[in-house]
Amino acid sequence: MDLDDPPEQREFRARLRAWLARTLPTLPPPPAPADWPARRAHDLRWQRTLYDAGYGELHWDASPTTRLIFLEETEAAGAPYVGANFVGLLHAGPTIAAEGTEAQRQRWLPPILRGEEVWCQGFSEPGAGSDLAALRTRARRDGDHYLVSGSKIWTSHAEVADWCELLVRTDPDAPRHRGISWLAMPMDAPGVTVRPLRTLAGSTEFAEVFLDDVPIPVGNRVGAENDGWRVTMVTLSFERGTAFVGEVVACRRVLRQLAATARENGRWDDPVVRRRLGRLNAEFRALWRLTQWNVSEAAATGGVPGVGGSVFKLRYSHARQDLYDTAADVLGPDALDLDSPWVLDRLSSLSYTIAAGTSQIQRTIVAERMLGLPRGR
Ligand SMILES: Cc1cc2nc3c(=O)[nH]c(=O)nc-3n(C[C@H](O)[C@H](O)[C@H](O)COP(=O)(O)OP(=O)(O)OC[C@H]3O[C@@H](n4cnc5c(N)ncnc54)[C@H](O)[C@@H]3O)c2cc1C
Repeated sequence: MDLDDPPEQREFRARLRAWLARTLPTLPPPPAPADWPARRAHDLRWQRTLYDAGYGELHWDASPTTRLIFLEETEAAGAPYVGANFVGLLHAGPTIAAEGTEAQRQRWLPPILRGEEVWCQGFSEPGAGSDLAALRTRARRDGDHYLVSGSKIWTSHAEVADWCELLVRTDPDAPRHRGISWLAMPMDAPGVTVRPLRTLAGSTEFAEVFLDDVPIPVGNRVGAENDGWRVTMVTLSFERGTAFVGEVVACRRVLRQLAATARENGRWDDPVVRRRLGRLNAEFRALWRLTQWNVSEAAATGGVPGVGGSVFKLRYSHARQDLYDTAADVLGPDALDLDSPWVLDRLSSLSYTIAAGTSQIQRTIVAERMLGLPRGR
């Protein structure tokens, strides 16, 4: 794989860089991290700005090189990240693009790209997290609708979402992986109740979602009835394989910032600190190469990332925690200043080894599906 820009992409990079330099100073300042309604508006506005300039589709671009240049340049310039648009742009949208009908693509993809609708993910339930196939939310067929009852938990951005990619059990008598369907649920449907949960960092970024006979048109089912487990694997492969690629670039920027701070405040003179920063630099460089490989592989094999995403997710989530632990060491008491963004980022880094499937689960996937080791259970 050629890791340098092909000549035709150099022009794209230069054009994007110039556009970012012109556009970013005109954006309003980002809202407070815990103010989700304001963040929704801010994140949608940014997506619309990208769309109007012809860059709206680049998270999905079929050309891996263009997509990665877009991520590198937007991050390096300090542009807003996807934020509230994470699920829609990075895994619900790509799932609908890969598995939906033409009518479903026409209905749901343009509003995501134009920054008009926010999605959330209703997969986890109390009792069905790592063991996702244990889910019990029930969908009963009633004419041309399903009536859905049950509850979901840890639903990120549920408070500000318009749509939810929802997993339901459509056949309670089938073997557990075979009776599941993947539905698009409007969050304003009757019977949906959202109860925000407060995180360690004080934010209500996720919620419990209670569903009481919620009517969902049968036409909102993506994939065949009871074939939802296969569609779910597509969603998870996007979530683990390519959804975090932009964040790796952001971590590399944070690392450079940290090295500069260490030089200024004298922590650079400590060989242990220097070694930690050096190791992190090597780790994030390797992770960036791995993301390039994952995105290229996905493009070459029909657009859906493979099991390599679990390797990435595993290494990335631990490297991110190391990064913020090292930051605390470099910054000293300043790292405890509650007004500093470092505190929030360090606390939220703890969640990365849990969200999108825990590290233990990723190790099992790598062992069984990649290395062909015998199943442990
Ligand atoms: C910040 C954040 C955002 C999230 N956002 C969403 C969201 O938007 N939508 C959504 O649906 N979910 C979301 N989740 C939920 C997340 O996907 C689950 O927390 C995760 O799948 C783990 O499930 P659990 O919490 O039920 O833990 P459990 O499954 O109960 O696991 C508890 C512990 O046991 C271990 N364990 C369980 N089974 C095994 C096994 N077979 N082998 C080895 N170890 C095992 C786990 O690794 C873990 O350490 C989010 C979570 C976080 C932290």
